[in-house]
Amino acid sequence: MSAIDGLPPLREVIAQHGLAAKKSLGQNFLLDLNLTARIARIPGDLSGASVLEVGPGPGGLTRGLLSEGAGKVLAIEKDARCLPALAEVAAAWPGRLQVIEGDALEIDPLEHLGPPIHVVANLPYNVGTELLVRWLTPAVWPPYWSSLTLMFQKEVAERIVAQPGGKAYGRLAILAQWRCDVRIALRLPPEAFTPPPKVSSAVVHFRPRDEPLYPADAGVLSHVVAMAFNQRRKMLRAALKGLGGDVEALLAEAGLLPTERAEQVPISGFAALARAVAARPSS
Ligand code: SAM
Repeated sequence: MSAIDGLPPLREVIAQHGLAAKKSLGQNFLLDLNLTARIARIPGDLSGASVLEVGPGPGGLTRGLLSEGAGKVLAIEKDARCLPALAEVAAAWPGRLQVIEGDALEIDPLEHLGPPIHVVANLPYNVGTELLVRWLTPAVWPPYWSSLTLMFQKEVAERIVAQPGGKAYGRLAILAQWRCDVRIALRLPPEAFTPPPKVSSAVVHFRPRDEPLYPADAGVLSHVVAMAFNQRRKMLRAALKGLGGDVEALLAEAGLLPTERAEQVPISGFAALARAVAARPSS
């Protein structure tokens, strides 16, 4: 059966364009177009929507996004070998796919695409967390994106949705959940990819909240959380010494015990601590 876009199956595309996967670029491709269409449906109805895709590779997920109705897809790909294959996808969907060759860490999508934008990506593992932190910490909130649908290694996905009390809970969970609704939308075994990676993967879906869960300055919150989890096994009074001044008084003001450890503190506690830090008279 031919695909909805009339293009050849992805195995043929890869063979034809010599796209042997490169480990250095985190290349583990999705070749099942039913699966890529399923991922493209996670953000909801894409009809006419603008989508940013990072790392389209041979174009499996890109084809899913277009066949699900995306109005415009901006795809940023670092590997120039993939460009001819992506040009064929663009030709099958005239005017709807723009491919930019380059590093997603260095390209501003807003120069090419207007908000609201759904971000959908099977991320290269080596830059996935860095990109996520940037998407979660823009200068203004709500952000330019209206949802993030991102593939991660299972362990990273579990850190994003983690609740207090376990090893997975930390900076990523707090950054993500403070300002977004997050859920694991799909779990995938290594065999879903070519070549199969060593670990399982999961797609996490993020929707930005209009307002953060609890008031706090984003920069102060991020600083306090990074410090607390940098020495996660220590009690808060020791882990937060770097804040300077009377740390125990700050903790008391935030309603936290000096003997607690970071992984026991809910987001409300870190937000209260960030407010207490921000309210300190500057010396
Ligand atoms: N989207 C394709 C799929 O699902 O089959 C490929 C996913 S593969 C895990 C990651 C892709 O990201 C590769 O095509 C790789 O070349 C590309 N990539 C790696 N680093 C990148 C970067 N910094 N900027 C843009 N693309 C990058």
